[in-house]
Amino acid sequence: MSPKQSEHVRLFIPGPVEVREEILEAQAEWMIGHRSSAFAELYARLQPKLQQTFYTTNPVYIYTSSGTGVWESASRCAVRDDRKILHLTCGAFSERWAEVSQLNGKQVDVLAVEWGQANRPEQLAEALHRSEYDAVAVVMNETSTGVMNPVAEYAEILKDYPDTLFLVDVVSCYAGVKIPTDEWGIDVCLTSTQKAFALPPGMAFGAVSPAVLERAKQVTNRGYYFDVLEIDRHHQKNNTPATPPIALMYAADRQLDDILAEGLENRFARHLKMQQMTHEWVRRAGFELFSEEGYHSPTVTNVRNTRGIDVSALNSFLKKRGMMISNGYGKLKDKAFRIAHMGDIQPEHLEELFAAMDEFLAQEG
Ligand SMILES: *Cc1c(COP(=O)(O)O)cnc(C)c1O
Repeated sequence: MSPKQSEHVRLFIPGPVEVREEILEAQAEWMIGHRSSAFAELYARLQPKLQQTFYTTNPVYIYTSSGTGVWESASRCAVRDDRKILHLTCGAFSERWAEVSQLNGKQVDVLAVEWGQANRPEQLAEALHRSEYDAVAVVMNETSTGVMNPVAEYAEILKDYPDTLFLVDVVSCYAGVKIPTDEWGIDVCLTSTQKAFALPPGMAFGAVSPAVLERAKQVTNRGYYFDVLEIDRHHQKNNTPATPPIALMYAADRQLDDILAEGLENRFARHLKMQQMTHEWVRRAGFELFSEEGYHSPTVTNVRNTRGIDVSALNSFLKKRGMMISNGYGKLKDKAFRIAHMGDIQPEHLEELFAAMDEFLAQEG
């Protein structure tokens, strides 16, 4: 018997995503003091599993914030006051990160493409040739458009610029596609819990390279809460500067075990399969993909609403069947809708969703 008060609605929205009952229950452990040895053990137990899933030997810090907090931390600590950061933008999240850098007093250059397109490696190469940057920031999987950027290609270019730190947001694709943090030379690789990680919201992770710590020492105003030097000092003792979300750490401990038990390669394959299923449905139902060919996200599909359906009516219909998808983000509202197939969503869940969506479309005529 589930003790929950509300009806279960399976979320096919790109965050917060569906969280399995086992994970919700893992949070219900007794609390421990965060300065106790039991906590240090929990913290230490998470590390190798986080490093394995990020494909890194760098420490993976735990942030008591959503992913936005790690944006702030990265923007603030990786860029000196009189230097610049280059943001590649292609949608709402990458644009907002650029704004975060600006609001933290950094000098920001932006390389933008139309929503639905991927950022061009050639543009990055040109920009780096023209000007010097302390850091380049990119969103690997732009959740608002359903585009996955060619981060491997950016990484290749950045190999010629060792003083330019590489900051990558993998919030909506972590563990859904391989992200070889060290091989790509990523200096800050960040994600939050409520998207591809498939945990409740409230915590974030950042795999941070030693070069970022060195850079941070040259930044005068790092603040406190998101200062990587302060975070690292506590990390050395398997601890955090302020009280962490212990319940979420229990959940992460369980989820990382489950991710590794599934096998990372199997998990990536499952996401690709769900992407294929979704693309097939899109074609079959007479819609089009919003994202540019060759750059479709494996974890979230943005569907151009070419049939002009009432997206809210579709969601009301789905809700009665215990499911929910997402309307288009911001300016794409009603012009597109999004189906998230990330985290612990399984192919059979998608079959159920598509059957219901077909039923809705049939009654619409
Ligand atoms: C949701 C999202 C964010 C913001 O993360 P929060 O955890 O909500 O702060 C950042 N980047 C991407 C790509 C996202 O999808």
